[in-house]
Formats: sequence, C-alpha cells, structure tokens
Amino acid sequence: MTRIAFIGLGNMGGGMAANLAKAGHDVRAFDLSADALARAEEAGCLPAATAVEAADGAEVVVTMLPAGAHVEAVYAEILPVLPPAALLIDCSTIDVATARRVAEQAAAKGMVAVDAPVSGGIAAAAAGSLTFMVGGGDDGFSRAEPILAQMGKAVIRAGAAGAGQAAKMCNNMILGATMVATCEAFALAGKLGLDAQAFYDIASVSSGQSWSMTSYCPVPGVGPETPADRDYQGGFATALMLKDLRLAAEAAEQAGANTPMGTRARELYEAFAADGHGALDFSAIIKTL
Ligand code: NAD
Repeated sequence: MTRIAFIGLGNMGGGMAANLAKAGHDVRAFDLSADALARAEEAGCLPAATAVEAADGAEVVVTMLPAGAHVEAVYAEILPVLPPAALLIDCSTIDVATARRVAEQAAAKGMVAVDAPVSGGIAAAAAGSLTFMVGGGDDGFSRAEPILAQMGKAVIRAGAAGAGQAAKMCNNMILGATMVATCEAFALAGKLGLDAQAFYDIASVSSGQSWSMTSYCPVPGVGPETPADRDYQGGFATALMLKDLRLAAEAAEQAGANTPMGTRARELYEAFAADGHGALDFSAIIKTL
C-alpha cells in the first residue's frame, strides 16, 4: 500500500483516484469542487481540505488538472511539504514547456517527477483501461509504472521530461484531423446518395478506416455506441480537443514544424467552439459539415 495524494478529481481524475483506492492504496484526495471531493470519498478516498493537506507525507502525488497553469500552481503549493523521496506524476494534458519546468522544480528539491498524460476518455478512466505516455528519467518511469498500471491497460515510455506531453499532442493532432476528415466523408457520402451504414461497412474495412471511424463513429446509429448516439453529450469535449490542438500549434511554432492539417482542424474546432458548442463531444463537428 502506498500513500498517494490525488489532486484533481474531475471527469477523469475521479475514476482514476477511485481505481487507486480500489487497488488498496491510501489515497488522500483534493479538488476545489466539493461535489468532486464527495464522490471521491464515496469511492474510498480520504478527502483533504487543501492540496497541502493531501500532499503532507505522501509517497506519490498524482495530478489530473485542466491545464499547465493549474499544475504549476499546485506544485508551488505542495513541493515545500513533500518528503524528499516523493514521486510526482502529472497525468494532465499540458504544454511541454510547463511539463519540463515543473519537473526541474521538483528535481531542484531532490524529487523525481514524470509527465504521464493519458489517452482514453472518461469511460476508460473509470474502467482503469487508460493508455499512459510517460516522459521522465529511468528512475521516475520505473517507480511510476506500477502505479499507472493500476489505472490503465498500457504504460509506455515516451522519452525524457516533456516527451509524454509531446506524444499526447501529436496523437491528438491526428485525432482532430481524422475526425474532421471522417465527418466530411460521411457528409459527402450522404450527398452522393450513399447510405451511412453502407459507407461505414465499406470504409471501416478499407483504407479510409481510422479510430475516428471505427471506435468513435460520428454518425448516430452506425458503428459501436459512441457520443453520437447520445446526442453528442459526454465523451471528449470540443473545448478540450481545441485545447490540445492549440498546444500542438504552439509546439509546432516553437519547433518550426509545418502542420497544415493540424492547423485546419484547429481553425474548424475554434469556429465550432465559438458558436457555443464547446461542451459538446468533439465528433459533433459533423453538424457543421
Ligand atoms: P475536469 O475539468 O472534469 O477536471 C479537472 C478538475 O480539476 C476539476 O474537478 C477542478 O475542480 C479541479 N481543479 C482545478 N484546479 C484545481 C486546483 N488548484 N486544486 C485542486 N483541484 C483543481 O477535466 P477532465 O476532463 O478530468 O480532464 C483533466 C485533464 O485530463 C485535462 O488536462 C484534459 O485535457 C485531460 N484529458 C481529458 C480527457 C477526457 O476525455 N475528458 C481525455 C484525456 C485527457
């Protein structure tokens, strides 16, 4: 049993913290939201009144927060109270520069930190079947792996600090672009008189196949059950997809990389969010095509 501080108990963190408690760890949980904290308590975690209280004496800290600024603020609060042997695992999706900076701040205190963003949505967080992509040193990876394995189906080393975030944003740039391409292909197929199911049956076993089509089909009633079958509620919010595409754009600019498909996907998601659809699942962009 490990003493774990879990900070950020939202859509993703709530299920992840519950899985660590279920695995028998002593999980001290904190979130700014009283509702999220109450759900974590029901799931077997011990609620803390502050991040510092959760972190005090923790062997491992897991954070699952919205963006880099939140992670940096929480680390500034907890680093002074953590034992020097503590391991910090940030599972949030944040920019590479912040991920590297917080790892350096932890290292300056003699602690080990890794970035370990996830692939898989709320259902995978609850089921403990996430994929983790980990950036950090050998020691950080070997210590983080058994903890992450209790929340996921795959834990993969991406490289040094920040590499997990780099892998995550490149992956989600593919996801954004393939979702738009899949949506526009269904729209065109419809205008050409093709039945959506017939097109799915063909493309899903042809070269147009992708995860966006066969695991997350944007058309209701076609393929496996997806947010499209729930009027695009739940799932992966357009606002979060836009956040990831903006992180990719920022990273591409800094690295001097040319990413025209990622750029176009970001523009389309920016327009969709600006029309008030930020809370809808990202596959709802099919409504605009
Ligand atoms: P969420 O908004 O549901 O949860 C974030 C939680 O952090 C909230 O409960 C909020 O109250 C809490 N929080 C914010 N600031 C805090 C602070 N200073 N101290 C304590 N708690 C604080 O978001 P989510 O969907 O759980 O996503 C979390 C992260 O995971 C994001 O970086 C997101 O991009 C990433 N992600 C999400 C999904 C998804 O499908 N939702 C999939 C993969 C990755």
